[in-house]
Amino acid sequence: MPVICVDGIVTRYANYRESDRILSIFTIDRGRLDAKARGCRKPQSPLVNACQPFVFGQFEIYTGKERATINACEVKETFYPIREDYERFSIGSVMLRLCHDAAPENEPNEALFSLLYHALSFLSYGVSNPKDLFCCFLVRFLNVTGYRPAVTTCAQCGRDIRNDAIVRFSPRGGATCAACPQQGQPVSKTALEGMRRMLVLEDTQMDRVKLSDGVRTEISECLAAYTKTTLDFGERAFSVLENAMRQPETAGTTESTAHSEQD
Ligand SMILES: [Zn+2]
Repeated sequence: MPVICVDGIVTRYANYRESDRILSIFTIDRGRLDAKARGCRKPQSPLVNACQPFVFGQFEIYTGKERATINACEVKETFYPIREDYERFSIGSVMLRLCHDAAPENEPNEALFSLLYHALSFLSYGVSNPKDLFCCFLVRFLNVTGYRPAVTTCAQCGRDIRNDAIVRFSPRGGATCAACPQQGQPVSKTALEGMRRMLVLEDTQMDRVKLSDGVRTEISECLAAYTKTTLDFGERAFSVLENAMRQPETAGTTESTAHSEQD
């Protein structure tokens, strides 16, 4: 029987029938993998704790002729604290969504997996500001998926802009110098330097980022506009965050939010 064992993080799910789910799992070895989990919503199911977003585990999967089916899962980490805090949950959900959309099927992306794993770890157990962590995650996400914005040289003419007084951040390409046709919003030297530093950290150092309110706002706005413009799925991923932030009182439980993001 074709049975595989894969380590992965559950990025999404869709309920179907009375007690089943289809899970999307971002695996280390095989990229994104969708698999059925039969009966996993029954309280007595051995899969009940495994079939939740954010769960990292080792999944035993039967890959028959039809859709793959999960036989068993050894849960290694639930990142449970993310579910107990609304802001962390919203940010974590966008991280999952971005990785879900970026992870290729049947193709590993270890750098992206490591980024997600460490970001969720810090989001659960770290003390750094979740918004700073998200800025760091986002610029690094763009880098590992091949969409790194210009932060050192002008996106248009290629000139080093590190000493320039006037720089804008275009949603198409990133930083542009004053001599080139200007688009986007003005960006400070501090914000650009912040993004450069975030890019050279190790994944294990992401909690070192500490931004002032002003710089955090600048970086967030620049990267959000860039991501929405540059990635096909950027707008949709950010709508998860924006919807979540807009309706905190109606969210109730984290479960309902995770489910409502399915489409
Ligand atoms: Zn230029």
